Parts: sequence; C-alpha cells; structure tokens
Amino acid sequence: MNNNPRMQTFTGLATARGLVSGPAFIYRGYGEVPISEHAIAESEMESELKRLHDAVSVTKRDLEDLISVLRERTGRADIRVFECHLMIIEDDFLMNEVEGRVKNGLVNAEAAVRQTMDGARKQFAKMNDPYFRERVRDIDDVERRLLKQLTGFESNPHLELKEPSVVIADDLTPSETIQLPKEYLLGFVTNGGSPTSHVALLARALAIPAVTGVGDIVSFVQAGETVLLDGTSGKVTVNPDDLSFAQFKKLERKSREAVALDNPSALPGTLKEGGEVKIFANIHPGVPTTGLVETHARGIGLYRSEYLWLNSEREPTEDEQFEAYKTAALFASKLVGEASVTIRMLDIGGDKTVKGISTKEANPFLGNRSIRYLLSRRDALRTQMRAILRASAYGNVSIMYPMVSCVEELRECASELASMKESLAKEGVPFDKDIKVGAMIEVPAAALNADVLADYVDFFSIGTNDLVQYTMAADRGNEAVANLYQPLNPSIIKLVSMTLSAAKAKGLQVSVCGESASDPVVGIFWAALGVDILSMSATYIPVISKILSRLTRAELDEYAKVPSSLAKDSTADEIFAACRAWMLAHLPDDAELLS
Ligand code: PEP
Ligand code: MG
Repeated sequence: MNNNPRMQTFTGLATARGLVSGPAFIYRGYGEVPISEHAIAESEMESELKRLHDAVSVTKRDLEDLISVLRERTGRADIRVFECHLMIIEDDFLMNEVEGRVKNGLVNAEAAVRQTMDGARKQFAKMNDPYFRERVRDIDDVERRLLKQLTGFESNPHLELKEPSVVIADDLTPSETIQLPKEYLLGFVTNGGSPTSHVALLARALAIPAVTGVGDIVSFVQAGETVLLDGTSGKVTVNPDDLSFAQFKKLERKSREAVALDNPSALPGTLKEGGEVKIFANIHPGVPTTGLVETHARGIGLYRSEYLWLNSEREPTEDEQFEAYKTAALFASKLVGEASVTIRMLDIGGDKTVKGISTKEANPFLGNRSIRYLLSRRDALRTQMRAILRASAYGNVSIMYPMVSCVEELRECASELASMKESLAKEGVPFDKDIKVGAMIEVPAAALNADVLADYVDFFSIGTNDLVQYTMAADRGNEAVANLYQPLNPSIIKLVSMTLSAAKAKGLQVSVCGESASDPVVGIFWAALGVDILSMSATYIPVISKILSRLTRAELDEYAKVPSSLAKDSTADEIFAACRAWMLAHLPDDAELLS
C-alpha cells in the first residue's frame, strides 16, 4: 500500500460534471515572455522602430495564416477570436501609442509594447461588463505574440500535449482554449475561471469534466503526476495514495455506468416502456462541436448567434454569418433524429453588450435588447435573416426570435421574413421556403398571451433563465437576490403550463432551452408537464437521458401532479423538495444522478 505523502485534495467549482483520472499536463500557456525593458539613445530610435514594425508585420502574417488554417479545419466560427486579435494589432490608436513610447519616451520596443498593453489592460479591467473584462485576455494574447516576435522567444504549449491528460492551468485565454488538441483533453482544472469562462463553456460543450476556481493548484502539481478530477463535486486529488486511487476508479466506473443507457441504441430521452422527450443541445459559434455527435443529441435546440458579435470588434457581415450558420446546419445534419438547428437571432442587451452597438441605458435588462434592438435596426435584422435563410439550403434550419413580448413584434418579423424570402427568390438564391419560425417565451407577457402568439409561429422555446428573472424581478446574475431566482416558483409553473396549453391547442412544439432543462429535478418536471424538447449543454445530456430512460409516461404524469398535491401556499423550496423526494422514491438506485 502506497500512502503517498504528496497526496493533496483541492476544492473548486464543479463546472462540468463527470469523473476522470489521468496524468497532469501543466499548461503554462505562452507564459511571461522574458523581456528586458530599457531606455534607448535617440540614435537608436530608428532601428528600434524598424524592429517594432517588423514584429508587427510578422505577427499580423502569423495571425492571418492561423486564421486560414483554422478556417479550413473548423469553419468560420472558431476564427473570430483571432480576427479580434488581428483587429487589436491593426488598431491605429494602440499601435501609435506603442510607437510614441519608442519615439518620445525613448524606450526599447519591448518596453513600449508592455507599457501600452498594461494601460489597455487597466482600461478593460475597470469595465463593469464581464464581456469587456474578458477582453483583457485578448490583450494578453496579442502582447505575447508581439513580444515573442521581438525577443525570438519560442513556446507552443498546445503542441506539447501529446497524450490524453488532465489539463491544469492558471487560466486559459480563448485562443489557447481553441488551439488545444481535443483528442487529448480528458478534463480541465484551472486556478481561476468562473463557470461562464471559455474553459467552462468548452468543457461543457465537449462533455468533459472540469473544475474551475481551485485557487493555487498549478504551483503544486508537476507534469505527469496522477490527477483524480471530479467535476460533479468540484474535488481534485493530486498524487493519490493507493486506496484513494482504487476508490476513485470504482466511482469513475460507477459514474460511467450510472449514465450509460441500458439500451445504448435508444435515442436519448426515450422513456421506459416507450414514448420520448427529445433531447437537443445548446451551442454557440466559437465552441467546437466535437463530441456532440457521441452524446446522440437529436438536434441543436439553441444556437446562440450573438457570440458572432460578442467575440468581435465589429458586426459580422452577411457572408460571415452565412458561413457560420451553414457550418452549424451541416454539422446538425450529422446528428441522428431531427438533425436540425434552431438559430436564435441576435440576443444582445442586458448582460450581453457589444462594442459599437450597445448604448448606455438606465435599465439595460428592460431596454432595447434582442428582437427589440433588431426591429430598431432593420438593416441588421435583414442581414441576419438573409444569412439564416441562405444557410437553410444546407440543412434543417429554424429561425427563432429572442425576448418576444408582444404580437406586433412577431407581425413585423413575419413581414420582414416574407420580404427577405422574396428578394432571395428573385436573386435565385436557394433557401428553405418552409423554414420553421419560433418565438422564445422568456418574458411573462409572452407566456400570458401565448394563445395569441401561437398563431404567428411554428414553435415556442421557453427560456427559463430570463423567464424566471423577469417573473420574479430578480437579476439572474445577482447573488444577493439568488434566493428569489426560483424555477419551481408556482408563478413560473403557471406560466410554463399556460404556454404549453396554448401551444398544444394549436399543435405547436414546445422546448425548454434555459439552464433549468438540464436540472434533474426541474428539467424532468418540464418534461412531465408536456414539454416536447429539453435543450441543454452536451455535458448534461447523459444524466437527463438516463433519468428519462428510467421513467414511464404514466410516472411522468404522476410527477407532474406533485406541486398541485401540496398546500396551495407552498413555497418554491417546498415544491422543489417534494419533487426531489418523489424522484428519490422512484429512482432508488440512481440517487447519485440527482446530485
Ligand atoms: C434563457 O433566457 O433561458 C435563454 C436560453 O437565453 P439566454 O440564457 O441566452 O438569455
Ligand atoms: Mg434569454
């Protein structure tokens, strides 16, 4: 028995569920490029400027080469991060400042780059908006590229990952994340990173376990040391002793078996003794879809198109959007089942702001966002509709309007869509004439008026993330009111039920694409109420599928009645507890799936 004295357990945020063990790969990123910062004589200024200009042109060329390689390999969506880096390096304001520091400050090029980027970092870090704050990572990337050119310092950390490993990093920039070879990624552990960081999104999209926000693990663990990663509990053990290793292996096997379907050929969402609740995946451009086919997701229930804007310094053109949507349509056609992709139109505003587009508003969550914004920017609305319609010639594509509040919006959209179809037809451009159109139900007004809205669309998709926020008047990102953010509040149940009855009366399909769809207690409750599709991050698909495979339709009908069997004044917590207790009683052997 080996009682490893170096064994240590760390606790972080359970960011992507699942258990995995393997050797540690310490990703130090490009790291600090070692530089010397010093003053120069006036006579050296010209040669220093030349060095700077040469470094800028080689960096630009490298980025352009990388973009064209990635474009061939992965489609347009993955390259936007690098396009953004190219834009930073082409930014006259920033580059003039670097030059100015050499010319007027008489410092060497490395010092000029470092000082300018430090300034830019400070500016971005001060911003309230998390998307702008993330830009600091892009500045880091560009700075490293420039300094590498100036110093000749070589490091390509992602190329060193050559065997299946648990990647341990301080944090990863978007471009570092994208460049890692997916075939060798067993899991991620990061010192920093929130559940919404790039690493977290990537891990959930690839359905690999991840623990973020661990504190300091990088300085403890050494390359090749064994790591036990539990993305479900947020625990990471390094250098386990024999007993811990054996126990973990047992758990790892159990957790794999726990989510393995008894009938592996059944599509996810197939119920015991027949019937189904379809399981779809949520994706967004920029995050690879590797691994999604293996989850057997039947379609893409939510394609968050706004990421084409969020990762960029400018609005994507019609052609750029078309390429991204076409990639999604072609990918979706590889899935078994509906093989469809629902492209949600630009959902910006609120917490998602875009430079050059978003304006300062006193109440951004109640402001000119999503479909409201698009209707106030008809050029952008038409461009996006054209791009989606063009992509519909390449697969089973639907179009979805975000944040619908009233019938006028759907009327306006219908008339714009009809005229975009007409102009494409005149131009002889192919598209799906019968493209399905859906409305997101995420504003209480839309749920209350769902019977009227149902006449204008082919399907509803309930966005519980926002529906809960707007119904409870509780900011979805504010910890101070997290107690009011209650997906199983009786008011939310009523709104979802109203939406379902309105849809069923008109024969419309209903999906839930908010996070609650992937909660074993809440998501299954929506299914029990009659939702046709649950759409979620790939990582949650096995658990939800397994639970559904253990329940019959009759049991789901019984589960749907749990809240109404309680006292009328029951709280959301009481309803949740009763639902969970019902689940535990009906799935005695699968309690761990409910954790
Ligand atoms: C939702 O509101 O539930 C939703 C899916 O949209 P998002 O989270 O992108 O606002
Ligand atoms: Mg929403």
